[in-house]
Amino acid sequence: MEFLELAKVLDQIENTTKRLEMVDIIANFLKVADEDIMETVFLLQGKVAPDYEGVELGVAEKLVVRALATISGVAEGKIEGLLLKVGDLGKVGEELLKEKKQHSLFSENLTIKKVYNSYSKMARESGSGSQTRKIQILQELLHNSSPVEARFVIRIAIGKMRIGVADMTLVDAIAIAFGSKEDQDEVERAFNIMPNLPEIARMAYNGGIQSLAGVKVVPGVPVRSMLAERLPSLRDILLKMGGVCALEYKYDGLRIQAHKDGNKVTLFSRRLENVTSQFPDIVKEIREKVKAENAILDGEAVPYNIETEEMLPFQEISRRRGRKFDLLETAEKIPVVLFLFDCIYLKGENLMNLPYPQRRLKMVNSVDESAGLKIGKSLIVSEEDDAERFFSLALEAGCEGVVAKSISDKSFYRAGAREFVWIKYKRDYQMEMEDTVDLVVVGAFGGKGRRSGGYGALLMAVYSKTEDKFTTICKLGSGFTDDQLHSLPRMLQRFSLKTKDRRVDSLMTPDYWFEPGLVLEVKGSEITLSPIHTCCRDLIKKDSGLAIRFPRFTGRWREDKKPEETTDEEEILEIYHSQKKKVLAENP
Ligand code: AMP
Repeated sequence: MEFLELAKVLDQIENTTKRLEMVDIIANFLKVADEDIMETVFLLQGKVAPDYEGVELGVAEKLVVRALATISGVAEGKIEGLLLKVGDLGKVGEELLKEKKQHSLFSENLTIKKVYNSYSKMARESGSGSQTRKIQILQELLHNSSPVEARFVIRIAIGKMRIGVADMTLVDAIAIAFGSKEDQDEVERAFNIMPNLPEIARMAYNGGIQSLAGVKVVPGVPVRSMLAERLPSLRDILLKMGGVCALEYKYDGLRIQAHKDGNKVTLFSRRLENVTSQFPDIVKEIREKVKAENAILDGEAVPYNIETEEMLPFQEISRRRGRKFDLLETAEKIPVVLFLFDCIYLKGENLMNLPYPQRRLKMVNSVDESAGLKIGKSLIVSEEDDAERFFSLALEAGCEGVVAKSISDKSFYRAGAREFVWIKYKRDYQMEMEDTVDLVVVGAFGGKGRRSGGYGALLMAVYSKTEDKFTTICKLGSGFTDDQLHSLPRMLQRFSLKTKDRRVDSLMTPDYWFEPGLVLEVKGSEITLSPIHTCCRDLIKKDSGLAIRFPRFTGRWREDKKPEETTDEEEILEIYHSQKKKVLAENP
């Protein structure tokens, strides 16, 4: 079919704001698209391949300007001036061609296939000389375009369609074109487990809507991620869940859907982009530690300090994105752990229609946990107190809250859906710890990985004047240079003890104990409630102490300070309250 027909449809879509009208226009066109059905849907989306294949057209605007200049004989500078005025390179091209076409004789009509194939070729061009070849392809397309075709040829090329055909509009149009309005759910179901609308349209065109029942989950093709609803309290969540549910840590990182198919591992982001190349370390763990021959696992990748077992702020992971050349090196410097929380497919079987507890069990049984691959923490709760305690533990571990998961018979994996089967509960405040604090070392944990043989993290404490004791406030493992780490055992040697110092109050048992002596300056991101630290225990909340979140050594040894001169509990309490006040002032 001629591309002009599709360009006219695109023009009509552009001229309506009514969604239903849009759906009808598209549906009518799909009915007659025949063997061009896939290319048509791709072009309606302004794409050449489904997102998960990672093929991008993305032609730079300046390339298009150059091509237009050659075709129209108008200088590049002038075209750029027009672009500034009109703001839409598609329209600029259309106008330029209107003038030119009046005296042009040679051109052949564009077909939908020809346009799609040209883009497809363009998208796959890479390496030296690729820019020139892209320009040539574009010039040929423009040379054969009528003005209205040029508008869309240009817009698709630069990735700015501007007509807003959303995925769900296409879902509805496919249902109406090859079935009826009532078939929308069936098309959506297929889309949720195979987010490839051109292929879905082709199947529906050839075999009717019923053929979509044949769409199956397969490793390598991402399933749309299940999402969580939100409620304001753990009590509300328990009520909504019928009095019992599983609570899971809500890890703060990047959602990853990991697909294993024999030796091939593919990773997708929440938006279903292929992010495999950014995480060679996760690929390795999935390949080696997932025992099943094939599987699709859902999880969250979190930057992590493997030696100290601390989660790091989420921002660390974004430093991984977009890096092409030093990925292995970055993987070593900013390691990530993938925390798995669901299993969608295992050993050739789609698990989406099994209740969550069964899926989780299968997941647990099919993964060998390792330093870089872990099963997310989970606990079945029915009492609000237990839920609160688990929530505090999650915060203490560096998570942003919890996700409650229904454990009912109907707790299926609902791809693409945001329903009350998963409910998230985050802390509703964000606090800033501005001051540094001086903390004293009272214990140490043996190191792992690069730090094995030395200390991985130190157990830090503050002083309680009222009770003359040292209470723990955090594990400290970040901020040290390699030299500083090496010097720690020597510096701490003279404080070494066989058992806990009687003035130290700790619920944790580190591998080494020290008499409070060595003082370090520490900066954290905030002070939070903690069930495992003893600083200010029970003062704010029963069975809770205070802890420093994301603590880092500033590099300053405070050898000038005696342990009794470290920051004391009262000051910590003050910082805790002042952070909170600050937030209240900002969000009254
Ligand atoms: P939000 O981004 O605030 O809507 O929260 C939902 C996101 O939390 C999911 O998309 C995941 O990326 C993330 N997440 C972290 N831990 C879990 C978990 N245990 N279960 C489900 N989602 C989780």
